[in-house]
Amino acid sequence: MNYSKYYPIDVLNGEGTRCSLFVSGCIHNCKGCYNQSTWSPDAGELFTDQLAEQIIKDLNDTRIKRQGLTLSGGDPLHPANTEQVLKLIKRVKAECAGKNIWIWTGYLLADLNPQQKEIVDLIDVLIDGKFIQELAEPNLQWRGSSNQVVHRFDKNSS
Ligand code: SF4
Repeated sequence: MNYSKYYPIDVLNGEGTRCSLFVSGCIHNCKGCYNQSTWSPDAGELFTDQLAEQIIKDLNDTRIKRQGLTLSGGDPLHPANTEQVLKLIKRVKAECAGKNIWIWTGYLLADLNPQQKEIVDLIDVLIDGKFIQELAEPNLQWRGSSNQVVHRFDKNSS
């Protein structure tokens, strides 16, 4: 898996202060996408064990309390990413007590394959659906266009 950006402190992508990882790879080709540079799974840099370690460390840093981890992109549920994303969120669940996990994807919850479903079964919030420029509204919370849905599973919210 490759990624384009990692923000150890982020207050824009999900509730509270968070760690946010923007992965590479997206097949959805949404018109008006702000992240076209992340469409290729080969874009950006390789996601390494060292970065996974850093994310776990940042989430457990008691000096700056984070509510959890955000995964966006690109698409965290792109086939090139599911194995590494699953591994990472399993670590967060096991090693970062009380932290929630948010994922943004262009896929629809109802259409997920078993591998993608396995990931979503472990997380707290999924924002799903492609960005549709004709349905874009600037005041939507956590969404770019009104077709997208915020699904709250809230297994681990604080
Ligand atoms: S799903 Fe997101 S990253 Fe992918 S093309 Fe659409 S807006 Fe861009």
